[in-house]
Amino acid sequence: MQQSILRDLGILLGIFGLIWLGASLFSFYPEDPQLLSIEREQKLGDAYVDLVLLNPMFQELENEKIDSSIQVIGDRLSGGLNQSEFDYRFIVFDSEMINAFTLPGGNILISTGLIGFSESPEELAAVIAHEMGHVEERHVVARLIKELGIEILTSGDPYVLGEVTGMLTSTRFDRKQEEEADLFACHLLEDSNIEPRTLATVFRRLEQETGNELLEHFEIISTHPNFRSRIRDVLSYLPEDDFTVEPFTMDWEEIKSGL
Ligand SMILES: [Zn+2]
Repeated sequence: MQQSILRDLGILLGIFGLIWLGASLFSFYPEDPQLLSIEREQKLGDAYVDLVLLNPMFQELENEKIDSSIQVIGDRLSGGLNQSEFDYRFIVFDSEMINAFTLPGGNILISTGLIGFSESPEELAAVIAHEMGHVEERHVVARLIKELGIEILTSGDPYVLGEVTGMLTSTRFDRKQEEEADLFACHLLEDSNIEPRTLATVFRRLEQETGNELLEHFEIISTHPNFRSRIRDVLSYLPEDDFTVEPFTMDWEEIKSGL
């Protein structure tokens, strides 16, 4: 008698275990970025970049001086990464909108409007570091897999590619993802010898611009702007005792005058 109760209990536990496993697969599986290999992500990213740059709203800027300055900032940040599976590419597009966003595969697009808005190369670096946080945490791919599913995402159909590209230029992250990207940015800025709390300065200046329609598409503020708590979180970040700042030596005002 007792044995059969034990057996029934065992079966019951087994069933609960299966339900639990099913529920966790159901809630985690749909947005698991691991479903897409980094190599595949880079290939998709290249295709998206080509398509985005065909859009007149995101025309690539042809300005050697600006490009090389952005490269200096990007190289400093890439050098601050411990290790990365991504080959970063920083692309400047010509738009008065204050904007930056991330495409899969380590592609970060930066508007001339954002460069103009940044009062120093460090401010721009803070925004780029935040975007690199979305790359390293694979937030874009996680969102796409959640919204579209892995089959559609990897179908390779040109029409689907075009549609996904349209979605990518207006990606919205959730609050948790934004907080992760902010924290990642603080660590990365510190490791790149840039004052991490510059990010708080950028948030404060963006907050002062609330209502400015040039900011409409800027992903960094698009979801739950919640500047005060983000400023507080960034200001509470304390760099290590041996942290030193290495200012960029470029003439920022002169570079911006070429915009
Ligand atoms: Zn963000």
